[in-house]
Amino acid sequence: MSKESLISKVQSVSQDLTDITLEMWRNPETALEEFKSSKLLSDYMKSQGFEIKSIPNNPTSFIAEFGSGKPILGILGEYDALPKLSQKVSAVREAADGKTLDDPGHGCGHNLLGCGGAGAAIAIKEAIEKGEVKGTIRFYGCAAEETLAGKGMMAREGVFDDCDACITWHPAFMNSLWGCSFLAMNSLKFRFKGLAAHAAAAPDAGRSALDAVELMDVGANYLREHVNEKVRIHYAITNGGGLPNTVPPDAEVWYYVRAPKRADVKATTARLIKIANGAAEMTETTMSYELLAGCYDVVSNHKIGDVMLENMRFVGGPGYDDADYAFAAELQKNLTPESKAATIKSYYAPEEIADMVLAEGVYDNNDYGQIMAGSTDVGDVSYICPTAQMIGATLPVGIGTHTWMATACTGSPIGVKSMIFMAKSLACTAYDLMTKPELLDAAKAEFKKSVGDFKYVSAWDEKE
Ligand SMILES: [Zn+2]
Repeated sequence: MSKESLISKVQSVSQDLTDITLEMWRNPETALEEFKSSKLLSDYMKSQGFEIKSIPNNPTSFIAEFGSGKPILGILGEYDALPKLSQKVSAVREAADGKTLDDPGHGCGHNLLGCGGAGAAIAIKEAIEKGEVKGTIRFYGCAAEETLAGKGMMAREGVFDDCDACITWHPAFMNSLWGCSFLAMNSLKFRFKGLAAHAAAAPDAGRSALDAVELMDVGANYLREHVNEKVRIHYAITNGGGLPNTVPPDAEVWYYVRAPKRADVKATTARLIKIANGAAEMTETTMSYELLAGCYDVVSNHKIGDVMLENMRFVGGPGYDDADYAFAAELQKNLTPESKAATIKSYYAPEEIADMVLAEGVYDNNDYGQIMAGSTDVGDVSYICPTAQMIGATLPVGIGTHTWMATACTGSPIGVKSMIFMAKSLACTAYDLMTKPELLDAAKAEFKKSVGDFKYVSAWDEKE
């Protein structure tokens, strides 16, 4: 089976993939609520002949598997949406039909991400059936990327442990790779409990949970000077007591800790917990905390990345038409020169694309060794097996994800064409990895060199 046949197979299911991705787009579901989206995709994969496996403690994640034995190639897909990004396919800000601006929307294009990966897995399944590829193809339906919890929750269950490699893609404004790392991160809520009392009549009888939160924040702000300078600590008070005339018996503060390496996140989190305990001691309140999510930095596999670029060039491009260009140009008018330049810079994108409307070509990435100032739970998988991510020109140049403009694109023909292009490119990359043992061996050798003997432990299972 040639790569041309893989491309034709993806093309033959492209209408199905389009229907599913647009159905998800019209019914956006946020992290861990993706019941309809995951069912839509897992039902479709089942109808295509995949065995569907559920994952313990992960009701909106699933595995669709076909084939047997080694190698085992994983394709990662997501489908969660973002809060408050409801948007029509329109170049002006307006909520989707029947929705308000407070409703969720697919501002990161995970509707496309998930369906593109599924399309690639379907093409590889056909190659396995024809006896031209040996091994197992696995599509991972991954919940909750946006809260950086999903893949860590799945990894806790060991579902990636026997994978030889994992590949994925993400919407962006050019066709290239994410060869960079991302910031490792922990998301924690600290809850304090005190004693309510009338704030004027009997303040001496009260113990303020809000005092504890404020003292914790002071402590955390002093901590900043004494951590690795790349560590970022952000917080928001999510329960400040509510009433000034009652000593607040309950208060809560939500922290993110980020750093280029997981070890710094872990160490800083341990110190933050000490500060929280100190604040509780000072105020005679009690403290509990909950780790909502935690993810690793990303070890990007260059061997696989090189093959991804080759395959994107082989497939060609998304093939946008005049109507796509016209819509993209209208959307770009919402950008200020500063915001456009900042977004382009954050991707280490080549200067030549700065004046383009849609960057249809395939560009070498300039981001090996760089760190993108965000986080992704793909990092967890990247510490378990060789992993690489390509990016597709789903958006006009300069438009970032997590914006209403991105929601508009991910429900438009621009998004759909990008998804089909990525599905074909992923299928060809999976084919290379499964049919060229020397390539997979080289990817594994690079992984071993990067990760050494480190044994992955999920953020929830890390010991101090
Ligand atoms: Zn995303």
